[in-house]
Amino acid sequence: MTGDNRMGGRAIAEILQRAADGGRISADEALLLYTDAPLHALGEAADAVRRRRYPDNIVTYLIDRNINYTNICVTACRFCAFYRPPKHEQGWAHSMEEILRRCGEAVELGATQVMLQGGHHPDYGVEYYEQLFSSVKAAYPQLAIHSIGPSEILHMAKVSSMSIEEAIRRIKAAGLDSIAGAGAEMLPARPRKAIAPLKESGERWLEVMETAHRLGVESTATMMMGTGETNAERIEHLRMIRDVQDRTGGFRAFIPWTYQPENNHLKGRTQCTTLEYLRLVAVARLFFDNIAHLQSSWLTTGKDVGQLSLHMGVDDLGSIMLEENVISSAGAKHRSNLLELIWLIRSADRIPAQRDTLYRHLKVHRTPADDPTDDRVRSHVASNVTPPRRRRSLPVVAP
Ligand code: SF4
Repeated sequence: MTGDNRMGGRAIAEILQRAADGGRISADEALLLYTDAPLHALGEAADAVRRRRYPDNIVTYLIDRNINYTNICVTACRFCAFYRPPKHEQGWAHSMEEILRRCGEAVELGATQVMLQGGHHPDYGVEYYEQLFSSVKAAYPQLAIHSIGPSEILHMAKVSSMSIEEAIRRIKAAGLDSIAGAGAEMLPARPRKAIAPLKESGERWLEVMETAHRLGVESTATMMMGTGETNAERIEHLRMIRDVQDRTGGFRAFIPWTYQPENNHLKGRTQCTTLEYLRLVAVARLFFDNIAHLQSSWLTTGKDVGQLSLHMGVDDLGSIMLEENVISSAGAKHRSNLLELIWLIRSADRIPAQRDTLYRHLKVHRTPADDPTDDRVRSHVASNVTPPRRRRSLPVVAP
């Protein structure tokens, strides 16, 4: 080992220890850990933070359904396989009745949350979303509406010639409980322009989140990895989110996921490796001393990687996803069911628990005797993309 390497090793060990003890690390230090820290030491430090935050050793999951109201979109992101431009023959929009029917199916299967997601339809202003959220709340008040993202808010405000504040106030009053972290993709300018040239800037995305937090609407934050961004840009994405969180405290969770390469204009030229993903997860746990929850994405990385992430600081395995079409359109083929998700958590030596949108524990499965028996609760039971291999309990629904 050279003198320089020994110094670098000492610096890395000191940074890991400081972060594991709850101290703050800088973006430069996070980048050094991301590129140079030994994997096991990185995972150990991240898991130390998780254990301190969650000494009960519980890892949570959620039952929800992602319902898409339209695939018509004017924003044409290059990584997106879901959207169709206006007037395209494969464009569609669901009626309110159909959306409510899907919510009803989700409630019957034990869902506590719906994520209403869709394209930037040229006609959908604030009034559309008011009707959407108020109809869902009136029919199913028990469902949390954790939906849309800053891009949709900017779009609806523009269509309705309204300020961002007014748009958020109105959709909150109509029933929106919290904002999904959708549309973050990569926040730094260079990679964002390359994959989503018509989308708002990363700064603007964060500005909408900051406004929502100020108005009492909390959210999550996401990151899409693997479209050609550099290591430094990945860490810059984290820094941009942490700076806002220092001011608002409104991000409940950070959720990194990986770009899926099929059926989109990027044509899978670059992708994120498992190692890059797991290292990022661990660095996120160490860097975000101000965000409570870290969720990994079994849907995009696979169940094995999802389980491994539980040893890299993750405390939430996310949703069973009764329906998911957006990422599945781009090739995500992983499928699971509730019993398997619980098994993944338990066999990683964690205690599985069902949570709600606010991360409150609804059911803690301390032993297999506490496990649910309803085997209808599985991912993609009613999705219209890439049918699951196993028997479906509900019919596939046409778009
Ligand atoms: S990611 Fe969203 S905004 Fe971008 S093209 Fe797809 S549906 Fe439209």
